[in-house]
Amino acid sequence: MISKPTMKYQKLRLIKFGGEAGRKENGFGIIAGHKKKKGTEEVARLDQKLRDLQHRLRAGEETGARVRRKYKYSKLFRVEPGSKLNLRKINPEFTAGHKKKKAALKELEQLDQRLRALQFRLYAEGQQSLLICLQALDAAGKDGTIIHVSGAMNPQGTRVHSFKVPTREETAHDFLWRIGQRVPARGEVVIFNRSHYEDVLVVRVRGIVPKKVWKQRYQMINEFEKKLVANGTHVLKFFLHISPEEQLRRFKKRLDDPARHWKISESDYTEREFWDDYIEAYKEAVIRTSTKHAPWHVIPSNNKWFRNLAVTRIVVETLEAMNMNFPKPTVNIKNIRRKYHQVVAVDEKKKGRQPVAGETENGDGRQLVKAGKPQDAMVGAIALTEAIPANGEETILSQPLPPTASMPQRIANTA
Ligand code: AMP
Ligand code: MG
Repeated sequence: MISKPTMKYQKLRLIKFGGEAGRKENGFGIIAGHKKKKGTEEVARLDQKLRDLQHRLRAGEETGARVRRKYKYSKLFRVEPGSKLNLRKINPEFTAGHKKKKAALKELEQLDQRLRALQFRLYAEGQQSLLICLQALDAAGKDGTIIHVSGAMNPQGTRVHSFKVPTREETAHDFLWRIGQRVPARGEVVIFNRSHYEDVLVVRVRGIVPKKVWKQRYQMINEFEKKLVANGTHVLKFFLHISPEEQLRRFKKRLDDPARHWKISESDYTEREFWDDYIEAYKEAVIRTSTKHAPWHVIPSNNKWFRNLAVTRIVVETLEAMNMNFPKPTVNIKNIRRKYHQVVAVDEKKKGRQPVAGETENGDGRQLVKAGKPQDAMVGAIALTEAIPANGEETILSQPLPPTASMPQRIANTA
């Protein structure tokens, strides 16, 4: 059942997408009956509400639990194409009305499960892909975000790539050369730890190339990303926003913990001196390259748990909107099911056992056994076969199977 606050928001989205097409595309049927005129007024009203909210967010004001449920984070934290942005005014402590970390972590766990199931579907479908670009100043939590987001996904079908100071070979090519080689293939989720944006950030701040060179790069980036999107890659960009005070606290933590010493670099301190220049460079990069097809999101990141929650939620919302489908089976499942039962029967006969109740087929090729308490591993396996959707069925397991789980774990999950 869709909760009321969520429905309201979905209405906004659907009406914006307009009529039948929007409804079909998003798979909800909740705008039926809206007259066109009323719909338009409602869009204007809700759009205004969202703008007010984004404004409050920009102003660093805390918003309540209602907002937490009602608005998609992909909208709330998105930098609207063509809008203004004042990073200094966005409160890095913002938690969108979440008061308690513990409750947020519960929400995050549920999001992780959804992410796991969605990424499994993306991988199975093998048609579209997702590119996540993470950018931030030092110690803002790119690594932590990667550990969290990628940890919730099947390593098959997921990649992370970290972009460092370009090698000699990379420098000898145009700046997008090394990026193009790492973008996701169909079915993949790829996370970039730093990205092509370094070429309008550090490169600009440190004067690595002249202004007239980096100035043209915004347009090149937009065109590059447009091409990716046209080829089925969805592009999400995140700026993890922390305060300079929080950065210093994290530097201290690194110093105090020998296990983190390896993370310390001289450049942490030299780059910090250019904080304002970086903020200026980020501002221009984000404004110029936040497009409808590849939006930027500014994530308040002083609280690591909220940062993980916001990024995960936006990734989940994005994957949900991609409407992935399991591919049609390449075999006739009915025939295969029959074959399977024949094999089981022969096997049991060899062992001198009668097939146990439930292992026999009924007329339509479906088993009589129900997913319940498996008597032994074999029955458990049958229970699992029942639970897996066949022939493009839209069956969603109440507890999605972790794609990497081993067989005994899977049996435990269906029991
Ligand atoms: P880290 O992410 O801490 O391992 O550091 C990687 C370093 O590589 C950072 O200081 C980045 O600014 C730097 N870097 C990444 N891409 C580029 C680039 N295109 N040009 C110059 N420096 C870069
Ligand atoms: Mg670093």
